[in-house]
Amino acid sequence: MVVELRHIKDIGHVASYIPELRNVDPKKFGIHLTTIDNQNYSLGDSNDKFSIQSISKVLTLALAFELEDEFLWERVGVEPSGTPFNSLVQLEYEKGIPRNPFINAGALVLCDILVSRLQHPKQEFIEFTRKVSGNPTIDYCPRVAESEKLTGYTNAALINLMKAFGNIHNDIETVLDLYFHICSIEMTCKELAQGFLFLAANGVHPLTHERVVNVSKSKRINAIMQLCGFYDEAGEFSFKVGLPGKSGVGGGIIAIYPGHYSIAVWSPKLNSKGNSYKGMKILEFLTTRTKLSIF
Ligand code: GLN
Repeated sequence: MVVELRHIKDIGHVASYIPELRNVDPKKFGIHLTTIDNQNYSLGDSNDKFSIQSISKVLTLALAFELEDEFLWERVGVEPSGTPFNSLVQLEYEKGIPRNPFINAGALVLCDILVSRLQHPKQEFIEFTRKVSGNPTIDYCPRVAESEKLTGYTNAALINLMKAFGNIHNDIETVLDLYFHICSIEMTCKELAQGFLFLAANGVHPLTHERVVNVSKSKRINAIMQLCGFYDEAGEFSFKVGLPGKSGVGGGIIAIYPGHYSIAVWSPKLNSKGNSYKGMKILEFLTTRTKLSIF
């Protein structure tokens, strides 16, 4: 299998709209798979930290869902957007209610909820991430957060539009600051695979025995990952890989095989939809060769 993986081409471009992400070595490549009974398999740069970017939106959803329960869905939908992750178009004619929590607009609403509900949102979010993943070393990267803040015009436009529609309740700068920090979290493939294992085990982390979310919420988060985790390429990911997953512009992807394992891959070159080109190919290869997917 390793030999076959070497032949997978790597095309595309490292994200450059966040200046700090340009400095990543485009040839980096890592995989880590953890089963719910803690068997671990890895390849390549699986212990290198990288910017998890929008993969973090899954954790933002887990925490906001815990805090708001079903009220969450009054402010954000659960439908695939069919548009790029930072698109403004839909948001205007849908009156400031983002299609789902995994496009930028949706995650900004979740961050607004965290600012309303938590006393020290940045601190409490990183503590939640550490607890969920059983890893006290996970942290924000202030350089990446600052770099994104300096060039985050589209996110600023999204949040201003939603504020005008009444779907942002707090100060815009405070919410954006939290959002940029959450995107800047750095983790390795191994940390990601192990950290997200609760979604493969009905909401209880099999390694820490910590209940993160209840069974229904765990299933629903997986459902949203299945339908919305790859923006306007969610159908393609479902079609070719067949697992719930979430990508980030740092080139990482997390995918969950409920009841079995979670897997993280990292390859920084992105396709035109902002998803890791090689990461998607490898997951497609894995589920095709093993004949195991949720379908
Ligand atoms: N921080 C990035 C942004 O807001 C996240 C995008 C992504 O990973 N798809 O543009």
